Amino acid sequence: MSVETPRLGSILPMPLDEKDLKEVVEKSRDWAIMHGAGMRSKTNFSKDALYFAPFVLIPSVFPRREFYKALELQLVLNEMVHWVAHNRIFLTEVLKETIQVDEFTGNLFKIYETVQDEGITQNLSLGLFRSDYMVHNSNSKIKQVEINTIASSFGGIITHLTKLYRYVLQELGHHDLAANLPENNALEGLCSGMLEAWKMYGDIEATILFIVEDVTYNICDQRFHEFEIKRLNPYVKVIRKTLTEIGNEATLGSSNELIIDNRPVAVVYFRAGYEPNHYHSQLEWDARLMIERSQAIKSPSIHYHLAGTKKVQQALAKPGTLEMFLSDSGKIEAVREIFTGLYSLDLDEFGDQAIQMALDQPERYVLKPQREGGGNNIYGEEIKDAILKMKDSKERSAWILMERIHPPISSGYIVRPGGPEVPELLDLVSELGIYGVIIGDSYKIYSNRQCGHMLRTKTSTANEGGVAAGLGALDSPYLVD
Ligand code: ADP
Ligand code: MG
Repeated sequence: MSVETPRLGSILPMPLDEKDLKEVVEKSRDWAIMHGAGMRSKTNFSKDALYFAPFVLIPSVFPRREFYKALELQLVLNEMVHWVAHNRIFLTEVLKETIQVDEFTGNLFKIYETVQDEGITQNLSLGLFRSDYMVHNSNSKIKQVEINTIASSFGGIITHLTKLYRYVLQELGHHDLAANLPENNALEGLCSGMLEAWKMYGDIEATILFIVEDVTYNICDQRFHEFEIKRLNPYVKVIRKTLTEIGNEATLGSSNELIIDNRPVAVVYFRAGYEPNHYHSQLEWDARLMIERSQAIKSPSIHYHLAGTKKVQQALAKPGTLEMFLSDSGKIEAVREIFTGLYSLDLDEFGDQAIQMALDQPERYVLKPQREGGGNNIYGEEIKDAILKMKDSKERSAWILMERIHPPISSGYIVRPGGPEVPELLDLVSELGIYGVIIGDSYKIYSNRQCGHMLRTKTSTANEGGVAAGLGALDSPYLVD
């Protein structure tokens, strides 16, 4: 991080008085545990116990104008992803080099081609997206990090955690400041999307199936979704299965209904399936294909999944591409503004230029493979080594180069399980996520809305801040003008 990185003000004078700090940390930690802001421990796993999820004690400052801009933009991004996903020529062209060298994306693409060639059984897709942003220093405007089209997480926990900050501010004698904490109904919004799709499926016996990992650490977030579905519609049954279980237990009915536990499935909600290690063998790939062939409405459908790849993100940033998917020039302009430099590393003249840029100034970029879930990107000097290794091989098509976003720094405290009673004051940076729900088919979009937000914060020197990965902390934006 360069020395001239601007600093954001904090909402309260920092550091806090040590006695106050200790007291509020203890109270807020219990508040988090008691309101389900929890995760299972990776080091001390037990289904009987939860640890609280790491969180930032005092909400971080975020520019109000950029926050509302991101909310508004979600509808445009939902629409854009929807039409990208429904353009076979575009997806095929954009991914054609990558799928030759990236086996995982290649396998997803094979499923896509199979169902496209067979004819799609379920024309509707359900998108539960999250677009992630960081404020970029140079002009204090948001830049998009990525858009998640599969397993967009934390909508459950964050909805509850937003309320923690009201309590913390009250405890510190500043309840008046709570007016700057925006409402957050992400959980209800996401679950309403699933229920709307469930209704469109049109069978009251049918279930909502969560595809889950073999071991779920982020259990509270997933269960919140399940319980919220039940709260909104007590007649709907939610079941949880791994891809392995689907491979062993599920069948397709005479009209391609997905049948598991003797009931048809209306909606499949993937909280796993985005990483190679979620597919232990061909069985799990067969399960994914079976789901895709079925009548169930998928979140995401295979084409939504592919539309969320980093390669597609990079292709959309090329001049003239957005125009293929959005007709309104205002919308196109607004989307273009959030893109930072994105470059292909394909074996051609443009790829060569990008390779040279990365070798000359590696600190300016992030090197990204086609992966989700955090911990896969390469930063700084290591970019050079990686590029020198792959420079002359086709493998480079599996990667994209992205300009590094430099967010402003704020001062704050992170409360972690096993952390000290009095946490130290840290330099922090934040990443905003906006949730979007969309339901549509190849002809039409039936529902399109924005449904809430999350903020994740990490120390300013960490490259990545995945909360589930153990680096970041949950947070909530405190809006300032
Ligand atoms: P993943 O699919 O693994 O979540 P991301 O593209 O979201 O991949 O990258 C993971 C993390 O890396 C982000 O949450 C962010 O902290 C950091 N990151 C990604 N791209 C950039 C960028 N262009 N500039 C700065 N940090 C970035
Ligand atoms: Mg991400």
